Amino acid sequence: MATKAIIHLENLRSNIERARKLIGTHPKICLPVKADAYGHGAIPLSRSALAAGVEYLAVAGVQEGAELRRGGIEAPILLLSQVLPEELPEIINLGLIPLVSDEEFIDEAAGAAERENKSLALHLKIDTGMGRLGCRPEEAALMAKKISSSKKLKLEGVATHFSVSDTQSGEDQGYTKNQIEVFSGAVSSIREAGIDPGLVHAANSGALIFHEDSYFDMVRPGLYLYGYSPSRSLQGQLGIEPVMELKSVLVNIKKIKKGEDVSYGRTWTAPKDTYIGVIPTGYADGFPRGLSNNHSILIGGRAYPLAGRICMDQCMVDLGSDPEAQRWDEAVIFGPGFINAADMAEKINAIPYEITCSINKRVPREYVG
Ligand SMILES: *Cc1c(COP(=O)(O)O)cnc(C)c1O
Repeated sequence: MATKAIIHLENLRSNIERARKLIGTHPKICLPVKADAYGHGAIPLSRSALAAGVEYLAVAGVQEGAELRRGGIEAPILLLSQVLPEELPEIINLGLIPLVSDEEFIDEAAGAAERENKSLALHLKIDTGMGRLGCRPEEAALMAKKISSSKKLKLEGVATHFSVSDTQSGEDQGYTKNQIEVFSGAVSSIREAGIDPGLVHAANSGALIFHEDSYFDMVRPGLYLYGYSPSRSLQGQLGIEPVMELKSVLVNIKKIKKGEDVSYGRTWTAPKDTYIGVIPTGYADGFPRGLSNNHSILIGGRAYPLAGRICMDQCMVDLGSDPEAQRWDEAVIFGPGFINAADMAEKINAIPYEITCSINKRVPREYVG
């Protein structure tokens, strides 16, 4: 395969070290590896992160957790999305940790744990302003009591999630401060009810950077550990490096004449006699078609602009009238030290998460470092 995603594990490790410096020694680090570790490959990234001192992993659903267990990963794994009642036996047997938000589901979990005759660790999710999963803050103590009154359930943690922790606007910072206060209050109400809340955690990447008072006992930064700033303006200033690089090969060079067109829709016409390079990477690989005529590819240390629309499996660059690039040279589409996923996302009104998550599974991941 010409097109490959090179996964720089040395960058993952140094990003983890950076996070560790920010938070100090007490809080644990949870690496969100949902969506195949944001497209980087959940099993290798989990292994590498655990070896570098990360203590927890988080995925969206049971399937993703089961994949990690099949891969031999024994670390604690949080299930961030609401799971289905019928998935509880599998969750219990795989030792995954669901987040729960309501009494009905706590009852379901207690029943399933009784039937399996095994204990089940849970984290209680509290909604402090995200408006997604989580109980109301004033119900937190009641939910915690309900969990701790079941013999088979164990309240192992309490969590919340931020909606605007990644921006520097005064209003958003105030909103997040309020989320942190409401969350702290809810955790206190659990303690006042005589219940140990376990691991208290809230911070995503935005909060890791902008809200020191949100670290509690564990942080859950995904984007940051994959090497992107949650705030566009700080990209390149945080001492973190993108983990993913997308590479291909210049497979063909051809001469075209002034006035001739390139690719679907004839959106690019040669302004002079030139050479066109063909690269076998297209939108089906996850190279966003929205970047047609609006991105450059690095070949032999030089950036060449795209010529025409990105196709499903290929794209073209303008190599100029006297190309230095040679057939079979490596072609970097994005990566550390060059245009990265955050730069690309900005041009098409997307976020870096969407770029790395969209690298298709047909693109082999190659792990280095
Ligand atoms: C995905 C996710 C995170 C990580 O978010 P980033 O923005 O990548 O840091 C943290 N917590 C929850 C609940 C999530 O779903």
